[in-house]
This record gives sequence, structure tokens and C-alpha cells, in this order.
Amino acid sequence: MKKGINRRDFLKLFGVSAAGMTLIDGVSATPAFAAENLPSFELGPFKLQKTKETSSGCPYCGCGCSTIVYSDENDKVIFIEGDPDSPINEGTLCPKGAALSDVYNIIDKNRKRVPNPGRLTEVLYRAPGSSKWEVKDWDWAIPEIAKRIKKTRDEHFEAKDANGVTVNRCLALCQMGSANINNEEDYLVNKLMRGALGVVDLDHCARL
Ligand code: SF4
Repeated sequence: MKKGINRRDFLKLFGVSAAGMTLIDGVSATPAFAAENLPSFELGPFKLQKTKETSSGCPYCGCGCSTIVYSDENDKVIFIEGDPDSPINEGTLCPKGAALSDVYNIIDKNRKRVPNPGRLTEVLYRAPGSSKWEVKDWDWAIPEIAKRIKKTRDEHFEAKDANGVTVNRCLALCQMGSANINNEEDYLVNKLMRGALGVVDLDHCARL
């Protein structure tokens, strides 16, 4: 027992505490606090109700975490979360990945979510020697990319090196891959790059 408190003081103190607890207990049981007297409220519509779910991946680092992207009827992204079915991240995202929807939307100075004006949504092309970017469409860009890859490959393909050793390589091209593609897609990338084009410089963000 604390020095300075005798047995009589202790019993008095205990009696006051017990009375206080009884009072508190009594108050909590009064009808004013019963469940039926609490103010009722309606739940608003669930934020992700009626949204479209699209499976995707976090583009930031080499971990390759999977995500679910929720979009509304106008295909506007409204929320992104980790995919619980992913064996890599099992529904979790790091803080960077958790802020992924900021790629699409930002908070403006009026505290409203608005489309991110810095997000590229069109093909931009800068011709050799030019200082200007031109907007192009994919129907122009994809054949153009293919044409230039083929030209570079044909001009720089080496069947044998200087010692006569068969190399079948093209050192003028390289390939930057992704941590977000699966084994089958990786197989196709390698088939195209190594098999068809002779590319030997391949890398991706996880350096695998
Ligand atoms: S959520 Fe984080 S750990 Fe996962 S891929 Fe994105 S940046 Fe990397």
C-alpha cells in the first residue's frame, strides 16, 4: 500500500471508486442510450458499386504487384487497389503503388479530383533533327515502328563475327522489358527479340 494511506483511507477510496463505477454503469443502461433511441442514418451508395474491374499491374518497380482498376461508366478510373489473387502482393501495395490512381487523377486547389493534366494520352513523335513534338495516331505509329525496327535489323545483322564464329546477332537494337508481363508473354518477347531479330541486349526494370 502507498506510504501515507492507512487502511481506513484505502477503504474510503475504494468505496468512492466503486460508487463511481456503479453510476457510470447505471448511466450506460438508461433508456436514452438504448440502441432504438440512437439517431438513424442511411448508408450512401457503395463507392465501388457498378464499377468495372480491370486487372492490371503497378508500373513503378520490378516487384510486379498486381492491381484491380475500378472505372465508372465513362471509363474514368476512380480507384485502384492491390489484387488479392496475386501470389506476388496478395492484395497489398506499397505506399507508392497505393497512390497509383494519382497517375489518372490529381486533387486540384479546390480539393476536387480532376484528370491529371500531365498524363500522356496520345502518341507524340519528334522527327530526327526537329525540336517539336507532333501528335500522331497508333495507325501511323505501329507500322512506322515496325518499319524502322526491320530496317535497323537488316542493316546491322551479323551472321558471323570477325573470327568467323556464327553469332546471328544485331547489336544496333536492344529491348527493355517489363516486370508486369507473365511467363508466356516473356516467352513471346524473347522469341521475337532473340530468335527473329538477333537482339542480345535485353533488360527490364527488375534486372532479371
Ligand atoms: S506496389 Fe510498390 S512494390 Fe509493388 S510494384 Fe508497385 S512500386 Fe513496386
